[in-house]
Formats: sequence, C-alpha cells, structure tokens
Amino acid sequence: MKYLGITPSKPRIAVFDFTCCEGCELQLAIKEETLADFLKALEIVNFRESSSEASDEYDIALVEGAISRPDEVERLLHIRQQAKLLVAYGSCACFGGVNKLKNAHDLGEANMEVYGDHPKDTLPVRSLKEILPVDLEIPGCPVNKSEVERIVQHLIWDVPFQFPVYPVCFECKQNFSVCMYDRGHLCLGPVTRGGCNAPCPAGGLGCWGCRGPAADPNFDEFLNVAKSKGFSTDEINERLSFFGGFEVRA
Ligand code: SF4
Ligand code: SF4
Ligand code: SF4
Repeated sequence: MKYLGITPSKPRIAVFDFTCCEGCELQLAIKEETLADFLKALEIVNFRESSSEASDEYDIALVEGAISRPDEVERLLHIRQQAKLLVAYGSCACFGGVNKLKNAHDLGEANMEVYGDHPKDTLPVRSLKEILPVDLEIPGCPVNKSEVERIVQHLIWDVPFQFPVYPVCFECKQNFSVCMYDRGHLCLGPVTRGGCNAPCPAGGLGCWGCRGPAADPNFDEFLNVAKSKGFSTDEINERLSFFGGFEVRA
C-alpha cells in the first residue's frame, strides 16, 4: 500500500533486555486503543515477554537495560552485529538508569552482602553507548508509549524523528499543574528533556529527571531556584544522579 507515493516499510523488530526491570518493553504491549494498529505496522520477531518465538533475523533491535555483567557485553556485541539499527530503549539503556547507583559502592562488598557465598560475576554498570555505537536513544523510565508510537511511524516512513528540545516545565505548564516548588518539593523539570507530558508533577511528585537533560538547559538558573527554595547541594546532587542521565552536579 502506497501513501503519497511512498511505500512504508514493515521493519522486523527484536526486543532484548539486560539489567533492568523490563518495564519499558512492557510498554510495547499496552495502550489498547492503538495496540492493534501499532502491532500491525511492525513485525516483532523476538520479544520474550509476549512470545516464545525467537529469530536472529531482524532490522531493528530495541535494547532495554544497562550492562552489568561480562556475558551481557558479549550478548550485546552479537546483537550489534545482527541489527541494522540498534536502539537504546529506556533510561537504563540510555544512561545506566537506577542501576548506576550501584557504582557508588564497592562492588566486591556489595556482591558479598547480597549473594553471600555465591557471588555473581559483576561489573560497574554502563549504558549501551559506553560499550558500542548506538543509533537512536529513547529515554524515559519507563519510555512514553505515545512517543514510541511516533518514533515507530517515523522509522516506517524513513523520516528523521526530532525529540523535544524544551524542558519538562513546558508541558507541566500546559497541564496547568501547580509548580512543585510552590508545594515544597524539589523538581528537575527546568533542566530535564520534555516529551513525557510531565506526569510526575501532575501526580504531586517532583520530576526526577528520568529523560536526561533538555537541550541547552539553563542549569545555573535551575540551581538558583532550587537553592532559593531551601534545597541543599546534597539533595540536588542526589536527585541529579538518580537515573544516571546528568553529568553536571551542583
Ligand atoms: S528505564 Fe525504568 S522502566 Fe525501563 S527498564 Fe529501566 S528501570 Fe525499568
Ligand atoms: S513542577 Fe517542576 S516541571 Fe512543573 S513548572 Fe514546576 S519546576 Fe517545572
Ligand atoms: S516528569 Fe520527570 S521523572 Fe517524571 S516522567 Fe517526566 S522526565 Fe521522568
């Protein structure tokens, strides 16, 4: 079927998970109002959460999770060889995610404490791009299904996708949410990339920065606001480090 003279592709997609909670891949199987059309547009050939079929023949690899074990590095390299397009899917894959908090601890001691006499072969947590080239990053903890749908449409029609450059505050104000600073909470919305539709402030929680930094954020002004509202350097830095997406610190 052609549309405007263009024949859309039906990419073969494989979904893989590494160190993570698998919440991002679950997003592929939700949102019932568009799920049937979404799945019709793709050929999913490898998706452990929903099918026992597994093929090594695919165009796009959606890779979820961070890398924290030697065998994961080997598996990721194999996927990279197979895939025409490798997508870091979710904040664990893009930045290391909450898993990266582990790197602040002594890995040997932590291993002993959790696994006792049966320690695991473990490594400091890394994002995918710290190991090999990644073609596209879709941030979020979890990813936003509506955004994933739009990205898939762009892939099918071979049109580049542009992520929002504005911060979460932009969408928060569109939602008419009361600012969390006026409710006494810390919020990373001024420096975090929008596109999630600001669900956390809408639900009474300050943004934790799961989508990583906005394009060209005004970090100095964010610090001025956060400090003027009484938040300490430690509190701000703890928040900035939570998902691994921010390099800057207060
Ligand atoms: S980004 Fe969040 S929801 Fe997605 S796999 Fe990691 S921890 Fe789970
Ligand atoms: S609640 Fe957060 S995201 Fe919303 S306007 Fe205030 S600082 Fe920005
Ligand atoms: S408001 Fe912040 S923490 Fe919440 S989903 Fe959006 S980017 Fe993530």
